[in-house]
Amino acid sequence: MIKRYTIRTRKDVELIDITREVAEAVAEAKVEHGLASVYTKHTTTAIFINEAESGLLQDYLTLLEKLVPAHGGYAHDRIDSNAHAHLRSMLLGSGVTLPVIEGKPALGTWQRILFAELDGPRQRSFLVSVVKA
Ligand code: ZN
Repeated sequence: MIKRYTIRTRKDVELIDITREVAEAVAEAKVEHGLASVYTKHTTTAIFINEAESGLLQDYLTLLEKLVPAHGGYAHDRIDSNAHAHLRSMLLGSGVTLPVIEGKPALGTWQRILFAELDGPRQRSFLVSVVKA
């Protein structure tokens, strides 16, 4: 089963907790044990798993700004001026795959699935694919 979710981002750079949507898709798939893939087809977004504590949510963005400053003299900025967003996306990755155990995504107590908008605001989407093991 593959389910597509659309989200409207509100800021230039923003992290959105999509754990609830992924859990919903896994429940709808009625897969007891398997794998769930969460994937974004955009080149200036990313998906990663970590804690969603409010301080950390700021820290992730601060780290991205330090590692890949906006308008840092990148070649792609000659045509699109959003190279930093592509480079940040490359570092974070386009998706995650997680085990499904007893009909639920197998996440640790503090783990959340986070969608990173890196060149917003825009309409975005992500895919949740669930397969039986
Ligand atoms: Zn671009």
